Formats: sequence, structure tokens, C-alpha cells
Amino acid sequence: MRNPVPVLAFTSLLLAVLAAGQNQAAPSAEQPTMPYTPSLDLNSMDKSVDPCVDFYQYSCGGWQKANPIPADQTSWSVYAKLYQDNLTFLRAILEQASAGAERTSVTQKIGDFYAACMDESTVEKRGWSALQPDLDAITSLRSVKQITPLLARLQFAYGEKVLFSQGSTQDPDDSELEIAELDQGGLGLPDRDYYVKEDAKSKEIRQRYLEHVERVFELMGQNQETAKKSAQTILRMETALAKGQLTRVERRDPYQLQHKMKATDLNHVAPNLDWRAYYKELEYPSFEVVNLATPDYFRTVNRQLASEPLANWKTYLAFHVVDSFSPYLASSFADENFAFYRKYLRGAKEQQPRWKRCVQYADHQLGEALGQVYVEKVFSPELKASTLEMVRRIEDAMGERIRELDWMSPETKQQALTKLAGIRNKIGYPDKWRDYSSVTILPTDFAGNVRRANEFERRRDINKVGKPVDHGEWQISPPTVDAYYDPQMNDINFPAGVLQPPLYDAKLDDAPNYGDTGGTIGHELTHGFDDEGSQFDANGNLKNWWTKEDRAKFDARTQCVEDQYAQYVVVDDIHINSKLTLDEDVADLGGEILAYIAWQGATKDKQLAPVDGLTPDQRFFVGFAQWACANERPEELRMRAVTDEHSPAKYRINGVIKNMPEFSQAFSCRSGQAMVNSPEKVCKVW
Ligand SMILES: [Zn+2]
Repeated sequence: MRNPVPVLAFTSLLLAVLAAGQNQAAPSAEQPTMPYTPSLDLNSMDKSVDPCVDFYQYSCGGWQKANPIPADQTSWSVYAKLYQDNLTFLRAILEQASAGAERTSVTQKIGDFYAACMDESTVEKRGWSALQPDLDAITSLRSVKQITPLLARLQFAYGEKVLFSQGSTQDPDDSELEIAELDQGGLGLPDRDYYVKEDAKSKEIRQRYLEHVERVFELMGQNQETAKKSAQTILRMETALAKGQLTRVERRDPYQLQHKMKATDLNHVAPNLDWRAYYKELEYPSFEVVNLATPDYFRTVNRQLASEPLANWKTYLAFHVVDSFSPYLASSFADENFAFYRKYLRGAKEQQPRWKRCVQYADHQLGEALGQVYVEKVFSPELKASTLEMVRRIEDAMGERIRELDWMSPETKQQALTKLAGIRNKIGYPDKWRDYSSVTILPTDFAGNVRRANEFERRRDINKVGKPVDHGEWQISPPTVDAYYDPQMNDINFPAGVLQPPLYDAKLDDAPNYGDTGGTIGHELTHGFDDEGSQFDANGNLKNWWTKEDRAKFDARTQCVEDQYAQYVVVDDIHINSKLTLDEDVADLGGEILAYIAWQGATKDKQLAPVDGLTPDQRFFVGFAQWACANERPEELRMRAVTDEHSPAKYRINGVIKNMPEFSQAFSCRSGQAMVNSPEKVCKVW
């Protein structure tokens, strides 16, 4: 994922990509089809609830009853269910590709990758031997000075869990250029907050983490006493690292992540790493400037390198090599990984069946190869044309809103309209597919395939340094059930996977489609103008284009949203961290307002009649709410309260409609009812 500016995705599915559905019978190998559920489903509603008291319950109560969380899931939702249908569909594609006699280079790669993953007995037999050469190299380290080149090699294979992350990023001052970047990383728990909070639950989680680390070391052959000590070393070292990290809220400010410097100056920030050797080992193209996203973190790393003895570094490196690769090893490792990360931390009851994991690994590692076969089957030119038409209407609505804003000066408005006109719309799939021909994929070497695919991706990322930005690039695969806006690219990205029923439903009329997909498009568009996105200009450069007065008015308006969401309870006594979720909450509100305006424009010459007892406006809003129908485990809610920039599903609906007078009109709600903000309390940004 691109750093330092986070991509603003529509749901947390993108972040928690390994989330999926129920056990299902194997699909027919002949003609896989996606099952159909309408995007507005009366059976999903609970009409015994007053829509003016709890609109989410009214729209989704039936869905919640009919859709308990499957045992292998941490939450369950309309998005997750579609994601699951996608997995079943992709499984059929992969099975055909692994068995097929006449294969293209694309179907060979994905077919053999899947076959190797499904070959459980070979995976079991190999145990964790794939890691042995790296673990041997760690054991043979003779001094802390020798760590640098090995660290580079380990990061190349295993990624950011090994101390920090590296790669390319768009230059914040010149969005057409890719430069080198370094950023924080290196923790086993999902966020730095887990290490520093002093409440009882956080302490319990740290205790459980210690036990997890201890078990991993036992699996690696340490006796219990040594493993216990190793675990304490890991927690102590990671706690020190965590204290040097920026919080998620701090990371929302792009200026906090911008520290361009000469590459040679890295020697002043962190002289205990041999940077020349580091970049040589990673075979970077030559460069002079690097963005050090988090200098304090690298100062912390530097101090730690001086103060921790070599033996502790060996423990640290070995643990992260094994822990980050455990899902791809024999079941003893994969099961322990599941038990801590998905079962304890997120509440899943069972491990997902192997095929489901294998489909997700294939999508994750060879996404644009699998995606090619996928879009051929599910994404017609007509579908692309109709969604592009909707995007155009939403963008027109945004232009209209900007021109009509009563709080923004003409000067800033002009800049905002320029930015809007500069947005690139990417729909369905990339124009040019990623070429995986250099990755060796063997039908009998799952761990090796994963490693080579990882290394391919890191090489691709590193090789971008010093080159012009490729605006055709996508950061998620075509089957992904999600969408995003990227402020540095200034583009919105809607893969084919998110343009399927019950989200975008070509069989239904405009009301539910604008309420649902229209709102999502509006949401992504609004990210271009939210707290973070609005700091980037039309070209994606980090550059202020607001007058001071307009910025102050904007901040006052978003403060209204922040205050409203801060009151909502996530689980137990944990409230939404609305400083973290602010951009998403503002995008949800702005997106739905745009969708409503665009829908009115699209249907102004049509006579709309009630359907199934719901007026057109009511259908628009129920269509909106039903994208978010979900059941969530308390453990998952607890984790997301720390890590997820999105509010829980219920508030993504009820929090929005409270601020839309069109809603209370549609359902004849009275002032004072729960779903109605009194006029002086209505939040309106866009
Ligand atoms: Zn978003």
C-alpha cells in the first residue's frame, strides 16, 4: 500500500482483506455464475421498527436476523457476503486454470499458484523449512553492524514487519515523480496504541501476545523457559519501537509525514544503519532524495540498535520472519497465527477452509492475472458505460454544490472546481495489465511461490524510484469489493468487484442504485475535498489552495461532524475516535448528498411511482442503508475502534441521514425524533 498518504477506502474490507464467508458446496467447474441478490431487498428490512427512531434497524433488521456471522468470520455484511460470492466464483476460475490442458501464461501462473497452495500434504511435509536459509543467516550474524544488509534482504522477502518499511512514493511536491521512502513498521500487534495503553483490556491483550510469541518460539524448537524469555524480549523491544511511532490520528496530517532529505543525511538521523549497504543490497536505482516519513521512529531504531545486544536482535528478526510467514507454513504455524490474530484479536470462531485462503492469497499476490480472467466474465462494456454515466452525474452534482456553497469564497471555489475537473475516473480494471511473466510459479512449491510473488511486487515498487508516475496503476485487484480515492493521484478507483449486485444492480432502477453506488462514488469524490484530501491540489501536490478564512469555516463545519460521531458508542464504553474517522464520516455525508442531487437530475423527466409501498425517496434511502447491513463481533469492533478509519456500519447510516432533511421529509419524521437533528444542529460541509 502506498505511503505516506493512506489510500482512503470505502470499507475496511480492503484493510482486512482476509475476511470472507460461509462454507459452500464446490461450484460447478463448468460455468461459474455470481448469485443474484437485489440491491434493495424488502426481506432485509424490519418494518416493525420506526424508521425515524432507528433507520439502520428499519432497513437492515431482517438482514441481521437472517445472516448470523459464520464461524470462520470476524464480521458479516453485505460487502463481506459479496466478497464471499466472489471467492466462490474465483475458486472456479482457479480450479479450471489449475486443471486446464490448454493454458495461457496467465492461467498457468494462477492455476499453479492455487494448486500449490491446495497441496496441503506437501505444505505440511515442508513444515517451515522454506525459512531455514534466512534463519541460518540471522544465527550467523556476528555484530550489530552486520545487521544492515541482512535486514534489507529480509524486508525484501517479508516486508514491513521487519523493523520498518521501504519503497517508492509520489513526491509530495511533484506528483509526477516517484521517489524513495522510508516509514515506520516492525510491530507484531496491529497498532502502536496496543503497546502503550494502560487499561485492563490492553494489558490483557499484551499478556496474550506474550503467550502467542512464546508459542511461536516453542514451535521453532525453543524450550518453554527460553521461549518465555524470548517473548519478553520481543514485547520489550516492540514497546520501545512503538513509543517512537506516530499515532493513526497524527498520520492523517500529510505534513507530519513529509520529511524529504538528501539520502546521505540518513547517516545523521540513523548512523547505526549502514544506508549505503542497505540500498545497495536492495538494488535501488540511484537517487538523491528520500522521504523519511517518520524521523522520530528512525531515531528510536537507531537508539535501539545501540542499546540492544546482538542476541536480542537475532530473536527479534527470527520472530518476525516466522510470524509474518506463518499463514503459508505447515498447519502448526498457520493455526497458531489464526488463533491469535483472527480468533483472539478479532473474534473468528474457526479457521477458514483452505480453498478460501488459497483464493485470497492468489488474489492478493497475482491479482491482475486472476483479475483478467475475472473481468472477462463479469464486467461487460455496458456495465462500464452505465457506471461511468453515474460517475459523471455525481461529479456534476459536486460542481453544482461547490458553486452554490454559501460559506466558500469565489477564489477557493475556483480552485476546488479545478481540482474536481482534474480527477481521473478509473472504472472496472486497469487499461494495461501487470506483467507477471518474470515470476516463477511452480505447482509444488507454495512457500516459494509466495516469496517470489512478494519479491516481484517489492522489486516493481523499488524500480519506480526516479521514474515518472504511472497514472494507470491500480492499488487493488479487479475482484476487490471496495473502492478508493488517492489524493496524490487525484483519482477514484472502482474495481469490477464492487460494481456487482447487491451493490450496483443493473436489474433495478435508479433510486436504490444512486442511494447505494451513487453514494459510494460521492463518498470517494468527497475524499478529494476532505480534511486530508483538500490539502492536495488538482495535480496531487501537497499544496494549500484555500484562503485562511475558508479553511477556518471548513474546519468549523467538520468539527460539527466530529462532535456528533464522538457521542456514538462502538462497544462497551468505547466511543468512536471521531478524530480518526472524521474524513470517512464527512465523506459518507457528502457522498450521500451528492448522490441525492445526482439522482434527482437523472430522473427529473421521469414519473416515479411508489414500489412495494415505498415512495421513490424512501427507496433511495433504504437502498443507501442496505449497503451497510452487517453483524459484527465485539472483538472485531474493539480492534477496529483502534485501527479502522471508518465508523461502525450502523453509524455510517444513522449518522448521515440525521443531517439530511430530505430523509426526514421522505419518512415524515417529527423534530425531536432520534433520526432528526434539529435545524441548528444539522452538520453540512459540502
Ligand atoms: Zn472513504
